Amino acid sequence: MIRIGHGYDIHRFAEELTEATLVLGGVSIPYSKKLLAHSDGDLVIHALCDALLGALALGDIGQHFPDTDVQYKNTDSRFFLRNIMQIVKSKGYRVGNVDISIIAEAPKLLSYKQQMCDILASDLDVAVDAVNVKATTHEKLDAIGNKLGIAAHAVVLLMVNNENITQ
Ligand SMILES: [Zn+2]
Repeated sequence: MIRIGHGYDIHRFAEELTEATLVLGGVSIPYSKKLLAHSDGDLVIHALCDALLGALALGDIGQHFPDTDVQYKNTDSRFFLRNIMQIVKSKGYRVGNVDISIIAEAPKLLSYKQQMCDILASDLDVAVDAVNVKATTHEKLDAIGNKLGIAAHAVVLLMVNNENITQ
């Protein structure tokens, strides 16, 4: 009746300094470097998509939306999330809750977390208290600690949609 899924993603920053907008959890965040990616680089949503697919044993986001496919260049990752939620619903499941950890030395994400929860809850079709976003640093250790990139983990619980059963 319940299934659990985990997802992980990491993207690195481009080396050159530039005025850039990161997209994390669907929220636009100004920063001095851009994230390298085929899509919009929203690694929070990519991790979440992989968690949803993982819960259903349906592989990973790269299988469903290959990063070699030109049609997904610069794609808003919410497009991937909404599509995967259609699959979740078509399989007879709904999201129970979601817990996300973002690991970033910079930028500071505290003031964006609530907006991420609001956006993700909307795309996941759940109440906002079913979505938790945590942001932590890497304590200046390793690549993330040296501000070379940002990573995220997502854990998802899916539940059989009882509305489907009673129909
Ligand atoms: Zn990614």
